[in-house]
This record gives sequence, C-alpha cells and structure tokens, in this order.
Amino acid sequence: MIPTSFAYKRASSVAEAISLLSAGEDAKLLAGGHSLLPSMKLRLNEAGTLIDIGQLNELRYIDASGGMQRIGAGSTHHEIASSEVVGAHVPLLAQVGATIGDVQVRNKGTIGGSIAHADPAADWPAGLLATDAVIVAQGPNGPREYKAAGFFQGLFTTALGEHEIITEIRVPLPPQGTRVAYAKFAQPASRFALVGCAVAIAQSGGNISHARVAFTGVSGAAFRDQAVEQALMGQPANADTFAAAAARAASEQGHVMSDHFASEDYRRHLARVFAKRALMAAAAEG
Ligand SMILES: Cc1cc2nc3c(=O)[nH]c(=O)nc-3n(C[C@H](O)[C@H](O)[C@H](O)COP(=O)(O)OP(=O)(O)OC[C@H]3O[C@@H](n4cnc5c(N)ncnc54)[C@H](O)[C@@H]3O)c2cc1C
Repeated sequence: MIPTSFAYKRASSVAEAISLLSAGEDAKLLAGGHSLLPSMKLRLNEAGTLIDIGQLNELRYIDASGGMQRIGAGSTHHEIASSEVVGAHVPLLAQVGATIGDVQVRNKGTIGGSIAHADPAADWPAGLLATDAVIVAQGPNGPREYKAAGFFQGLFTTALGEHEIITEIRVPLPPQGTRVAYAKFAQPASRFALVGCAVAIAQSGGNISHARVAFTGVSGAAFRDQAVEQALMGQPANADTFAAAAARAASEQGHVMSDHFASEDYRRHLARVFAKRALMAAAAEG
C-alpha cells in the first residue's frame, strides 16, 4: 500500500524543526522512518507534513562526562550498540541496541524515534528504565526532562508534550561493579521483543545492594518490576535468589498483553523465564 499524500520539509536545526512542528497542520517528525513509514504505508498513521530531522548532526553524538552518559536522540541503534564509550560506561544499552531488528533497521532506526513511538514490544524502553535514564526534550516552551520511569505511559503513548522533540538521553553512570544483561525472546520475523528483560545488579558486603529489573513486551508499556527488585535486595547473588525473584516476574502487573503471537499466560511464563536468564547472565558477567 502507499501512504496518503503529504508535504515534506527537511529541518536544518532542532529550533527550525520545533517551529515547523508548531506551525504545521498535522505535522510529524521523521527520523529513521522505520516505524513511521511502515505505519503510514498501512494507513494506520497519516501526516499533513513530514519534518525530516534524520540529517541533524546536532542530534547525533555519544559522549560521557560528569558522571553521565549522553546520547543524542538521532543516534542509530547501531551507533549505540557499537560505541566503545557506551560499551565502557553503560554496557546494558550496548547489549539492548544490538538485539534490535536486523542490520538495516539498526543502521537507520534511532533511539529518539523508538522511544517517541513507544511500541510496547520495543527494546530501548526496558534498557532506559533499568539504567535510570532521563529523556531530554526541547519544545516551544524550552527544554524539559522526563525520567524514564513515568515516560512510557501505555500503548504508543508517552509523556512527551505537544510539539516537543526528544534531543538527548542521559544515563547516570551505574554504581561501581554493576553487572548487567538483557535477555529477550524475539519474535522470529521482526526481532521485536515478545518479552525482553533488562537487569542491572550490584553487590555490597556480599549482598545485592542495587537492583533494577525492567520488562518490555509484556504489557502496554515497559515497566520496572518492583516485586522482583524487592526480592533481590539484601540477598546473596546466587541461583536460589534469582529463581525466587524471577518467580515474581509480572506478578503485580494487572494488564499483560495477549495476541496472536503469545497468550497472557505464555507471556507471564516468558517473563519469569527471561528474568531468571537475565539475572544469571548478569551474575556470570566478567
Ligand atoms: C523490520 C523491522 C524490525 C524491527 N525490529 C525491532 C526490534 O527488534 N526492536 C525494536 O525496539 N524496534 C524494532 N523496530 C523498530 C525500529 O527500531 C525503529 O527504527 C524505531 O522504532 C523508530 O525509530 P525511527 O528513527 O525509525 O523513527 P521514525 O519511524 O522516523 O519515527 C517514529 C515516531 O517517532 C517520532 N519521532 C522520531 N524522532 C523523534 C524525536 N527525536 N523526538 C520526538 N519524536 C520523534 C516520529 O514523529 C514518529 O511518530 C523494527 C522495525 C522494522 C521495520
């Protein structure tokens, strides 16, 4: 199918993109196009004007300074997955990025586009929740910061304000000795997560002192699983602890998705299995 007709404008700066967004009737941003264009071709989505921000170098950078990893929203999945800086400072995000789609998707799709789109099966949201990331946006009223916890509100729904553009993802560097892993049961054709579990754990005095466990694919929005995290805190990092904690995965999640790929029961089962796998893989790291 082909999309409905639309105008196309290429923004030369973030400031120009914001002003085009605010001025245009039903204007939408175009970044990598790997979620927006397929949905327009299927006529699930339409736009009066597409504002192309895919060429903006000011959105394309990766650096770490001042105890913070900074990733420009226009960075592609591949750029993040293959970045030595990300690998050294927040390796969980490098792992997450490497599991997305195929080579073409990773070379075109951007982290900003993915989190703005908020597909319930997208991988980045789990990684951003488990790393306590902050999403920075610019809009007509200036800059705003959103904690990842609270940003993903439901099916294709985020806290992003009208005419705002995500410009940066900021991730505090994790506590010394943090071990991480992302375990994902991928839909065989698209590689989207039927269930994806991102974990970050650190120990102090032989027991777990920092635990982040986040899921994608399970519910309408990615979420941190407090029940699993509580079961880990203060316990020794061993197989018994991980099995007991993983058994609580998605147990407090009222809504679990059910579709032709996986029933609710099967997704709950996968959440337990992949939580345990992620915890075991994190503990085995290094
Ligand atoms: C075959 C295939 C397989 C895929 N597999 C996976 C997978 O395994 N895991 C996964 O997570 N994803 C997967 N994806 C989705 C892919 O990661 C997309 O690239 C991503 O979801 C959207 O990023 P984009 O840059 O392409 O955004 P676009 O498609 O250009 O935009 C998506 C939406 O975000 C908005 N937007 C874009 N940039 C910004 C911004 N900076 N600020 C505010 N709004 C913005 C757009 O207006 C649009 O509404 C797959 C896609 C395809 C086609």
